Amino acid sequence: MALCTRLQSFPSSSSSSNHIRPTKASNFHPICSLHYNSHSPFTEKHSIERYHRDQWLYKTQLENIENIAFCSSPPPDSNSVRQNEIALQLPELKKLLQVLREKREREGCGGWKKCGPGNVFLVGTGPGDPELLTLKAVRVIQSADLLLYDRLVSNDVLDLVGPNARLLYVGKTAGYHSRTQEEIHELLLSFAEAGATVVRLKGGDPLVFGRGGEEMDFLQQQGIHVKVIPGITAASGIAAELGIPLTHRGVANSVRFLTGHSRKGGTDPLFVAENAADPDSTLVIYMGLSTFPSLALKLMHHGLPPNTPAVAVERGTTPQQRMVFAELKDLANKITTVELVSPTLMIIGNVVALSPLWSLSMNEASCMVQAK
Ligand code: SAH
Repeated sequence: MALCTRLQSFPSSSSSSNHIRPTKASNFHPICSLHYNSHSPFTEKHSIERYHRDQWLYKTQLENIENIAFCSSPPPDSNSVRQNEIALQLPELKKLLQVLREKREREGCGGWKKCGPGNVFLVGTGPGDPELLTLKAVRVIQSADLLLYDRLVSNDVLDLVGPNARLLYVGKTAGYHSRTQEEIHELLLSFAEAGATVVRLKGGDPLVFGRGGEEMDFLQQQGIHVKVIPGITAASGIAAELGIPLTHRGVANSVRFLTGHSRKGGTDPLFVAENAADPDSTLVIYMGLSTFPSLALKLMHHGLPPNTPAVAVERGTTPQQRMVFAELKDLANKITTVELVSPTLMIIGNVVALSPLWSLSMNEASCMVQAK
């Protein structure tokens, strides 16, 4: 087994991150010890602080307010239902919405002057390394009034947000009231209608397994123009980091991005493995940790050779990146042994063996490879 990790032992070219960029096999020196840096570069570890800072209500507080509000008010129209829902849950947002509306009124909007809605940007933030953001994304992030972000947006990326912007965590965190997709839609809409520049930050690319299409669809139906700023999807960012060409003449003539999501949270992956079991294609599995054992068996059952090279990468492109290379038949066990956690991406296909790390990992049994 070979487990590779990136360690922060060298100065970085970036002031915002201490990333090491392992691209050449000669840069790696195997050492026989395990090193885990458990600190997450992603926002889940910080969401409690963010929750307090952004003044989100705990569920009990929310219920109290709901009881008061619904006992005394007359039945509201659909527009005010939307505004009240947001207001009840997020009092700070209500104040902010009010400020924005008053500003628009002072500017004569709604009366003699017609002011259009604000802009909504769906921004891809890449897999974690802030240097993988596009220039456009950085510009929009720095000019936003309100930013909604979820778990896979890294803290390094959030550090770029301007000091006067409001940041709201809308990811799911155990123990906290998470936002439903509908609530996120309503937040985006209300603020855009009040003239704000609203940015929805999404890990990777917003239109690759990011539900960005749904948010875009909803807002466009309400007459809000949505601009999408693409991000580097985890597959591209991680493949580049590991030196894996996702396609390669004579080795892989196509690449597929698949979700490992299961039906009703079970262990059975959604997609049909027989269609994906193609030795000339590279498979990239998103959200596949829990279903991977079943998926690997199905792929082999449908003809993918058991010795197909594969890799699983946790927290790719961040200083905490960990990975395990193995043949397809062994990868599920190795993932379990080294306890990879989400977010983890799997790449399966002959192209994996083109990574300079592949031969190293095969030679250095039970060793970790440290970047130098
Ligand atoms: N829109 C994102 C994908 C969101 S789905 C994108 O384009 O990359 C979430 C899944 O993406 C995770 O479960 C994991 O499989 C993968 N992923 C995203 N960022 C990752 C990272 N830094 N390291 C490993 N996997 C990652």
